[in-house]
Amino acid sequence: MAAVNPWLIGAPVAAATAVGGLAYAAFHPRSEFFGKHIHATNCSAKLAITFDDGPNPSITPKLLALLDQYNARATFFVVGKFVRDAPDLLREIIARGHSIGNHTETHPNLSLAMPSRVRGQLEDCNGAISEVLGSTPAWFRPPFGLRNPWVIPIANKLGMQAVMWTLLPGDWRAPSAEWLIPRLQPIATRAVKNSDGRGNFRENIRGDLLCLHDGYHRHQNGDRRHTLKALQYWFPRWRDLGLKFVTIDEAVR
Ligand SMILES: [Zn+2]
Repeated sequence: MAAVNPWLIGAPVAAATAVGGLAYAAFHPRSEFFGKHIHATNCSAKLAITFDDGPNPSITPKLLALLDQYNARATFFVVGKFVRDAPDLLREIIARGHSIGNHTETHPNLSLAMPSRVRGQLEDCNGAISEVLGSTPAWFRPPFGLRNPWVIPIANKLGMQAVMWTLLPGDWRAPSAEWLIPRLQPIATRAVKNSDGRGNFRENIRGDLLCLHDGYHRHQNGDRRHTLKALQYWFPRWRDLGLKFVTIDEAVR
């Protein structure tokens, strides 16, 4: 058999691997190729619930009432343009003991954005937040979870750590609460596996970081009733399993 130039075979394979690797680096929530981030809590007893794309006057107040009912604290990754639209709601989130994170000014896909655009999106959102609260947040979540080589370093320079998740159940596309409820089952399954059923959790095992949505990034007052209803189903069950509902600050402390 005649020798075949290995480059002719290798190049397409290498190219495909590079593209696959890049996709993993940009898309996978636990890939740290583009920089370090938080994607779980530091203890299996702690569940960190996060809400993206608000504040949303049509649902966030109802979520806040539900969270209060279960003495739960959560983290809200807010969009700057919606903060400007509903500043009192941002104040209310903080007044009730929850945490705030930066989710950019207008929610663009940052994977293709140049550094100046990334910085502008993060700074503008921080500006909207600090106008209301007098300070900027410690947490940042990239829109769609998408990163490139400068997204996380720029967030870090602005004093923020990036936060991803262990579970993304797809509540933004849920046709019903009945569709969404089983997609949240992994949290209870892991809680049972990692505890004795009486609220004593195994040590040195990380806990879930759940990504839900209280808003819709394209317009204000997005319909998130299915998210609310699914949480109404799960909160009493999670509480009975002994899970503690924490902010990102408490998740890493
Ligand atoms: Zn988002």
